[in-house]
Amino acid sequence: MAEERSLNFLEEIIEQHLKEGRYSQIITRFPPEPNGYLHIGHATSIYINFSLTQKYPGYTNLRFDDTNPETEETEYVESIKEDVRWLGFEWKYERYASDYFETLFEYALKLIDKGLAYVDDSTSEEIAAMKGTPTQPGVNSPYRDRSIEENRDLFLRMRNGEFPDGSKTLRAKIDMAHPNMIMRDPVLYRIKHVPHHRTGNKWCIYPLYDMAHGQCDSIERVTHSICTMEFVPHRELYDWLIEKLEIYPSKQYEFARRNLSYTVTSKRKLLQLVNEKHVSGWDDPRMPTISGMRRRGYTPESIRDFCARIGVGKRENLADMSLLEFCVREHLNKIALRRMVVTDPLKVVITNYDKEEEMVLSENNPEDPSSGMREVPFSSELYIEREDFMENPPKKFFRLAPGKMVRLKSAYIICCDEVIKDSRGNIIELRCHYIPESKSGSDTSGIHVKGTLHWVSCKHAVPVMIRWYDRLFVVENPAEEDDFIKYLNPESLKVIYPAYAEPSLKNATLNDKFQFLRKGYFVLDKESESDKLIFNLTVELKDKWDMIQKKQSDKH
Ligand code: ATP
Ligand code: MG
Repeated sequence: MAEERSLNFLEEIIEQHLKEGRYSQIITRFPPEPNGYLHIGHATSIYINFSLTQKYPGYTNLRFDDTNPETEETEYVESIKEDVRWLGFEWKYERYASDYFETLFEYALKLIDKGLAYVDDSTSEEIAAMKGTPTQPGVNSPYRDRSIEENRDLFLRMRNGEFPDGSKTLRAKIDMAHPNMIMRDPVLYRIKHVPHHRTGNKWCIYPLYDMAHGQCDSIERVTHSICTMEFVPHRELYDWLIEKLEIYPSKQYEFARRNLSYTVTSKRKLLQLVNEKHVSGWDDPRMPTISGMRRRGYTPESIRDFCARIGVGKRENLADMSLLEFCVREHLNKIALRRMVVTDPLKVVITNYDKEEEMVLSENNPEDPSSGMREVPFSSELYIEREDFMENPPKKFFRLAPGKMVRLKSAYIICCDEVIKDSRGNIIELRCHYIPESKSGSDTSGIHVKGTLHWVSCKHAVPVMIRWYDRLFVVENPAEEDDFIKYLNPESLKVIYPAYAEPSLKNATLNDKFQFLRKGYFVLDKESESDKLIFNLTVELKDKWDMIQKKQSDKH
């Protein structure tokens, strides 16, 4: 997929740096906080960080930003590792901010010793009140001028657990009138008597983001620390801390978040969907999480293709779900095995078919000749899709109707002779005859028909469950709404049972990708049992949302 495209702004920066000889290799990191599952927004960040070091000499680390013990869990660490690997990327070193707690503590002491940090007894409310506003300077804390000795003593006692949560913090001593509010004596450490998922009860003080992130980058000698735009104001503090600590000068670069239409990409909101049971879990196939997309049948190739297409920029953008679905279809079209499944059956009896049954051959994937053919059993009683028959069809209806002919995929041409109804007038069966010399592959009938239908032999059909998924939200940008929960799509999941599948689907595995002819792409769900197969709709063959949008814009 090495499409010719111009360099993105990060590549431009890196090529410049390599040319100047500033670095001989580049080191990036993907720094998730293990407080939830990764989503499509993270996928773009993973893609950016790892693809840069695939393109240029160097490597990427996976660094868990685990400085908030209350919300972080090992379960999330494991899922993040699985997701990054599944996307097709391998990190050089697996690291944790918590690996560096001792070093970070030493760094804090160094700041104290240089007179650049102090212990503050103010409450968080008092600190906020003294912060000032963008147009008004802040006020110095009454604790700002403590001596280095006193600060050292208090900070060591903070570590030793002598003080309760919230009673003291360590703050950088910068400038309470600084035009950048973040530089107004930012809090570096807080007391939290909370066990940590990796360090247990060893620590009761934890560094804040600003006191951890850049320092971890520096320890790992990260050359290009890539993050999202909301960290632009933090860059000054990032550089200040590195300079004052006299450590390796990692540099921060920002790009705009990538969000996706018709869904939400914030762990907090996704967690709410899970906790309030709007979805079955983090890996519900409707979730924009990597685990949800995997279960839905999306492929890593298609997600990487999507990330490459939306690119990197400085302006926030809402990537179009239709583009992601387009990438998924493009890839699945190349690899999916074609199968026949009838979701809403109408019985067809072929009155002149006097064999017991026969096997017809059907292509596994016409896009991939190496995929070969499979045998599909054909017999005198078949199911076709109810919507493929009309008793009084309009002119351009090329499917089945009384007196009309269609081809059954990979089998014969049939003609509808009679419509059988129940006492209430519902159509329950069609009587047809077939043209014996019209068999696909050896057709000598000379008859040309416009429609080809998928079908399943009744006595061979395997009843399966289909979970027909649709978008989770009905509005383009639910995150912008006051209460995003109100905009959940009430029809995001429809269960179809039984649908009738051709028997080869009995051997489906979780890794297989299928196209159910004329329906869409499907994948076996992990909740399947051998006598109850469940298939998830990955994506329909055509983009109906695109059509809905077009219709709406035509009206305006
Ligand atoms: P959330 O808002 O979902 O909680 P986060 O930014 O807090 O996301 P982290 O685990 O801290 O999540 O993020 C890890 C990395 O992924 C960070 O570098 C972050 O900037 C990046 N990232 C998160 N969301 C997006 C997004 N929507 N687009 C691009 N990058 C993202
Ligand atoms: Mg975060």
